[in-house]
Amino acid sequence: MPGGTTAPDNPPIEDRDVTAQYPLRGDVAVLVPAAGLGTRLGPGAPKALRELRGVPLLAHALRRIGEAPSVGCVVVAVPPDATTDLRPYLPGRIELYAVEGGPTRQASVAAALALAPESYKIILVHDAARAFAPPDLVERVAAAVRGGHQAVIPVLPVVDTIKQVDDTGHILTTLDRSALRSVQTPQGFQRAVLEAGHRNAVDGHTDDAGLVEKIGVRVFTVPGSDLAMKVTHPTDLALAEFLLGPST
Ligand code: C5P
Repeated sequence: MPGGTTAPDNPPIEDRDVTAQYPLRGDVAVLVPAAGLGTRLGPGAPKALRELRGVPLLAHALRRIGEAPSVGCVVVAVPPDATTDLRPYLPGRIELYAVEGGPTRQASVAAALALAPESYKIILVHDAARAFAPPDLVERVAAAVRGGHQAVIPVLPVVDTIKQVDDTGHILTTLDRSALRSVQTPQGFQRAVLEAGHRNAVDGHTDDAGLVEKIGVRVFTVPGSDLAMKVTHPTDLALAEFLLGPST
C-alpha cells in the first residue's frame, strides 16, 4: 500500500479525530500530578512549568487531556507557589480543580484524589511529565475501565536488554525481555480501587498500579503510545520539540 500501513492501535496523531470516534461522555476524572521539581531536567522552574514553544509542559498535557471526550473533570496537583492560570487550556465543559502537591508523587496523587468530586467513579492518573500523551490513549484506558477492569495501564514492549545488578555493579541476572513491559500513564482505576490502594499504602510507589497490586488487584494492560514518553532529561525536551512538529 502506498505510504505503508499503520497499525490500528497506533495511528499517527494527525489522523486522529477522537471526538468523532468516541461519544462525549464526561464520566472520567483525571488526576494530574504536576508538583515534581524535575531536578533531572537541570536547574530552572518546576518541570511541569518549563515551557516548550512558549507553553508550560502542564498546559500541553491539559490540552491533550481536554480533547478526550470521556473526560469531565481534571484535578491538578500543582507545585508550591504556582500561579499559572490553567483554565484556558481546557474546554469550558470540563471541571477544573487544583491542589498543592505533596513531597512525593504518591502524596500529590492522594491530595488530588481527595478533591475529585464523588460523582466520578472512573479515575485516571496522568503524569504532567507525559505531556504529549494523545487523547486516544486516554480513551483507550478509560474504555477498558468502563468495560469492567478494576485497574488499567498502558504499556510498551521493552527494547533494551535488561539486567539486574548488585550494589557492587556486577550483573546478578539477565531478565527475559519478552515478559517485560515499560509502563506509562494515564493509568485508569475504578474509584473505590484507587482509594483502597492509597488508603492501604505502606511504602512508596512510583506509579498507582503498584499501590493496587499490593492489595491484590489484577491490573490489565492496553497498548501504550510512543508519544506518551516522559520528559525527564534535557534530551527529552528536544524529542518533545520534534514530536510537536514544525512550528508555524
Ligand atoms: O519524578 P517523576 O518524573 O517520576 O514524576 C512523575 C510525575 O509526578 C511528574 O508529573 C511530577 O510533576 C509528579 N510529581 C508530583 N509530586 C511530587 C513528585 C512528582 O506531582 N512530589
